[in-house]
Formats: sequence, C-alpha cells, structure tokens
Amino acid sequence: MSKLLHYLNESPTVFFILKKDDGLWELEYVTDNVIKIYGKTSEDFLNKKYHHADFIHKVDLKKFNEEASKISKIKDDQFTYEPYRIVKGSTSTWISHTTKIIRDKNGKPEFYYGYITDISKQKLLNNKLNTANTILDSIFNNSFNFILLLDNKGKLIKANQRSLEIGDCKEQTVIGKYFWELPWWNHYGEKERDILRDEINMITHGSCLKNNKYYYNKYGNKIEVDFCFSPVFDKDGDVSNILCEAHDITQSINTKKRLDQYMEIVNNNVYISISDLSGKIVNISDAYCKLTGYIRDELIGKRHNIFRHPDTEDQVFKELWTTISKGRLWKGEHKNVKKDGTTYWVENSITPNLDEDGNTIGYTSIYNDITDKKEISELLITDFLTKIYNRRHFNDIFNLELKRAKRDKKNFVLMILDIDYFKQYNDTYGHDAGDKALQVVASSLKDTLNRAHDFVFRLGGEEFGIITSKIGIEGTKILANKLKESIENLEIEHKKNRVSNFITISIGTKIVLPESNLSENDIYKLADDALYEAKDSGRNKAVLSIKDTL
Ligand code: GH3
Ligand code: MG
Ligand code: MG
Repeated sequence: MSKLLHYLNESPTVFFILKKDDGLWELEYVTDNVIKIYGKTSEDFLNKKYHHADFIHKVDLKKFNEEASKISKIKDDQFTYEPYRIVKGSTSTWISHTTKIIRDKNGKPEFYYGYITDISKQKLLNNKLNTANTILDSIFNNSFNFILLLDNKGKLIKANQRSLEIGDCKEQTVIGKYFWELPWWNHYGEKERDILRDEINMITHGSCLKNNKYYYNKYGNKIEVDFCFSPVFDKDGDVSNILCEAHDITQSINTKKRLDQYMEIVNNNVYISISDLSGKIVNISDAYCKLTGYIRDELIGKRHNIFRHPDTEDQVFKELWTTISKGRLWKGEHKNVKKDGTTYWVENSITPNLDEDGNTIGYTSIYNDITDKKEISELLITDFLTKIYNRRHFNDIFNLELKRAKRDKKNFVLMILDIDYFKQYNDTYGHDAGDKALQVVASSLKDTLNRAHDFVFRLGGEEFGIITSKIGIEGTKILANKLKESIENLEIEHKKNRVSNFITISIGTKIVLPESNLSENDIYKLADDALYEAKDSGRNKAVLSIKDTL
C-alpha cells in the first residue's frame, strides 16, 4: 500500500476523495503530490479546509461551476471536465480533471473520487499544433491555386477557397463526392469521367500524375488548368489521401496561341533563316523557301552558301563573318541565286542568337528582297544598247576609283577608245549593223577586262571609256595594245576603214601616279588629247599621254 502511495505521489496525477459531511462535500483524502499543482500540502487542505475551487483561474471558474452542478444529475459514473487552470502564485497550470461517483444503493452519490493531471505540456504542444494547423489552413485557403484533398477512394474531404470560388459552389455540396462527380467536370461526357476515375485509381496505387484539364467557370469561360495529383502516404506506406493541385494556365496558353499566330504570320511573310554557328541552316521560313524555290527539307542542314552568287566577292562574306562572330549585327546587300539559277538581290541583317548565359549559339538572318530596286539602279547605270556601264556611272566610278587609287598609293589609268571611221561603217552597212558592231565591241572589251577593279563604259556614240588601277606603265601599254588587237581580231568587216579591212579602234591613255594633282577634267582632257594624237597619227593605235600638265 505504501509503495502504491509512493508511486502515486511521484506521478503527475493528484488523486483525491470527497465525502459528504453534514450535507457538504468535504475533501477526505488527497495525495501528497497536490503541492506540485496547488503549492499547498495535503495537510493544508485537510486541516485548513481549502477548497479546490479557491484555486481555479477566474476565467475558467464559471464554466467549472456549471459543469460541477450537473455532475449529480448525470447518469454515468464518470465525468471529465473541460481542461481548466489552477493558479499557484503568479503561474497557472492547465489540468485535466476526472471525477468518479460512488453511489449508495438508492443511486445517490455517496463519494467522489477523482484525479487531476497537469496537462500544461500537452496544452503547449496542442497550442503549437493548432498554430501549425492554422498556418496550413491559411496556406490552403489563401492559395491562388486550386487545391483539393481526397480520401484514398477519391472522395473529396477538403476543398480550398479558391477551388470553391472557381466552381461557384459551397463546400457542403461537394464534400463527400467522388472527384469525377465534382461540378468542375459537369461538361465532361461519360468517357472523360471514366478517364478521371482511372486517373484517381492510379494515384490510389501510389503514382503521381500531371496533366492539363479544362473546365468552364461561372461566367462560362473556358479555363485551362495544369493538374498535379499526388498520393499522401501514411506511416505504413499506404496511400491515405490524394492531393490535387491545379493552377490556371489559360493566360499562358492564350499567349502561346497568339505567339503561334504571330509566328505563322512571320513564317508566311518574312524572309528569315536561322543557322547554327557554322552557318548550317537549322530553320527557315516558308516565305523564304518560296522565294528561293527550294523546299524546306532541301535546305535544313545545308550551308547558307547554297544561295551564294559567284559575283559576290569573298570579301563580303569575310567581313560578314568577322562582324557576326564578334556578336555584332551585320547589315549588307548581296546577290543570291535561286534553285532555278536565276539571281535575286537581298538586303540582309544578321543578328547572333544567344543562349541564357549570353553565349552565341547561332544566327538569324532577315532578308529583304531588293531585286526590283537593284534592277532599277542597274538600269540607271547601264547603257541600253551595249549593256555595259553608261556615262552616268563613268562619272561616279571615275571619282571613286581615282580617290581609292590615291588612298592605296596605286596608279590610276583612264583610257578613251573610239571606233575608227564608224560613220562610214554605218553608211556602208546600215545603222542596225552599226548597233550590232557596237554591242560586239563592248562585250569584247568587257571580256578582256575582267579584274575586280576594271570598269568598261560606253561614253557615247562609238566612244568607250576604261578605268583600271594597280598597273604600271609597261602593263598599261601592253593592255592598250591587247585591247586594240582584240577588236581588230574580231574581224568585223569594214571595207571603208582606211587602215584595216576590219573594225579597229584608236586609244588615248592617261596614267595618273598617286602623287599627281591632276583634276578629273585634266585627266580626261589628257586622255582625250592622246586619243586624237592616235587618230591623227594613223588610227588603229594606242597613245599614252606623257604630259603631266595640260
Ligand atoms: P573617226 O575615225 O575620226 O572616229 O571617225 P568616225 O566616223 O568614227 O567619227 P565621227 O565622230 O565622225 O562619227 C561617229 C559616228 O558614230 C556617227 C554615227 O553615225 C555613229 N554612231 C554614234 N552612235 C551610234 C549608235 O548608237 N549606233 C550606230 N549605229 N551608230 C552610231
Ligand atoms: Mg570614231
Ligand atoms: Mg567618235
């Protein structure tokens, strides 16, 4: 017995017995550990007749008294009070209080015995748990996402505020329903609901699932959602619940659709190609395929030089690659070739494509078809009859090439060529034959002069101009003779030519040294003077002007 008492006194539970004495309930026994909760000993209670109620926190007292007054009327023999506080000095202890009733043979309470347990620690834990639950509830309800908690059969246990708002439904109308019967899927047919059921079944077996679904909100708008189902496992590893989370992706889907529409417009209307770092085509717009006459598959993986026209100098592409490989924009015009061999001109802007870290991963070219523009400007500088450059272009090139030669410290050469006795040729063979002869002479001159900086012009009538550079005195003399002979060697019959049986030309040449100060007019005049000297001294001749002043 004393051992039992010892244990009782060591335990956090205070044991007591109440007995009716003169119609009043008096404490008959209390274990010594009462001091831990009340700060008074068992003797204090028994001798000084303290009452338990004297120690109850005043906030909890009313409730306690209400409950205590009911005890005698209850049928059961045991009653547990709502937890309340016992005050000890400035501190208070939460307790759990249970009373047992011992009745006499008439059923009237004869004794009460009871136990009071300090539950402050439990209360503290409960408070913490409640706080955690409040936080979780707040996250659950304030989330912008749609969150549902199902049991492991797929029945809805909890639906957050957002999901109820979206579905325009009250919690009590949806709780307990199977997921596939929820109002969000009202527009679904039998088959689609079966799919939902199968999906939930998969989750109950422990799988996760992510997919897109849609429903109609209360305004009838279609809402696309990204759904994520995941199983919740209990401590035995069994699926106890299913968590469904969804967020609205309507806007991003609509943005993507709009983007696709823009891309479609670009694809159909913009000449655009994308290449990798080596210049291999990785994507190309339908519009550009159409322009070039290729089908997409013929171009993907090919290098861009599939479009290259032989007239485009290496220098253009060298400069292009130097610019873009430094990550800079390159803009320029060049001639290209279509699949059928016809040429077209493009204005091309190439920009580097960067990855997230800013590294160049390829290039985007956007083209503008400037063939018409180029053809018009070509027309403006081309002689209609002979298809070589005209006088207008001669004036521009004369100026540009003279400056360039000076800048490069190279000789500049101007030749003026004139067909001998051409009036007689026309008179003898007719004007059409004269035209034909002019065409043949022009293309022969062009064939002889085929270096990058050689230019041949028709200056007017039967007079041609040649501009070249980077050539010495001997070279110029050889070139002039070669030109003169090439024309005579065409063997175009010209009976009235007094110096040959064929068409011949006379040439006046002026070599301009880089340090020369002669003006364009001076140079022209000196070349023209040399031509007249050639004419005067017998024709079918080339004369080099040696004067450096007029
Ligand atoms: P020279 O040896 O001194 O140069 O004598 P030429 O007869 O060639 O010189 P001239 O300046 O007297 O005559 C040039 C002729 O060139 C006049 C014209 O009949 C002819 N001519 C000029 N333009 C054209 C053209 O477009 N077509 C044809 N068929 N003939 C042209
Ligand atoms: Mg002439
Ligand atoms: Mg003439």
